[in-house]
Amino acid sequence: MTKAEKQITLVQVRTIMADDFKNFSKILGNVFCSKCGVTLFTAYRIFLHSSGDIILRGVCSKCGKKVVRVMETGENQAAAKRAEKIFNSKKSDGHKKAMTALEMAKRKLEKEMGFPGGAKELDAA
Ligand SMILES: [Zn+2]
Repeated sequence: MTKAEKQITLVQVRTIMADDFKNFSKILGNVFCSKCGVTLFTAYRIFLHSSGDIILRGVCSKCGKKVVRVMETGENQAAAKRAEKIFNSKKSDGHKKAMTALEMAKRKLEKEMGFPGGAKELDAA
């Protein structure tokens, strides 16, 4: 991942593509693998390039090779504008989710330790 790219969520893709988002599932099922030809992703992550293009990086469902699909959303001026806004936003949904997971893990640990709500007295060894 280069500095000109930022990982985004599916929700953000929908925001950028707007009406064109209806083609997104078609795009996911029409990926080119250098070994297998036309294939589809088994798993993928979404990145936004500073040019406004959306880059899908995933794994070929047939051979497991890494495949990349670039969606030239940057060519659409309205979409590029929305992409720019997302690209420049400080917090992404992914970041928020990671923070929540961290917070939850912290709370679970606190609960196991008897925090908060008064520390439990430890059994004497
Ligand atoms: Zn393949």
